[in-house]
Amino acid sequence: MWTKWRYKLINIELAKKQKLTTQEIEGLKLLYEELSSIFLKAEQATEKELMILSMQLEELEYKLQEAWKFEKNPNKHSYWYKIPQCTCPKLDNADLWGTGTRIFNPQCMVHKHLFTHISNKRH
Ligand SMILES: [Zn+2]
Repeated sequence: MWTKWRYKLINIELAKKQKLTTQEIEGLKLLYEELSSIFLKAEQATEKELMILSMQLEELEYKLQEAWKFEKNPNKHSYWYKIPQCTCPKLDNADLWGTGTRIFNPQCMVHKHLFTHISNKRH
């Protein structure tokens, strides 16, 4: 079962480093609520619903980067393979963070729809 509180805890040290205001931190909390809600829905979702949730998750990762005052960079997304029911390799993708390469499991319920579009990215 996905534990809802996990991403509700904001990294305060990082927030200080990024000079976020109290209001900006509140905004971040809302985004993490949204993240929890996507993950919670994904636990029970069908393949079609998972496709939609994975796209919402990508959008949310951009919003999070913006809220943290980082550059919007799809290479630095870190939640896409953590979504429930995703069977893409976790450690490999964690290692590849920032490189722009993603390793997919062709059988992954969440990401197999991507293969029709970016089959050249398969490793
Ligand atoms: Zn996947």
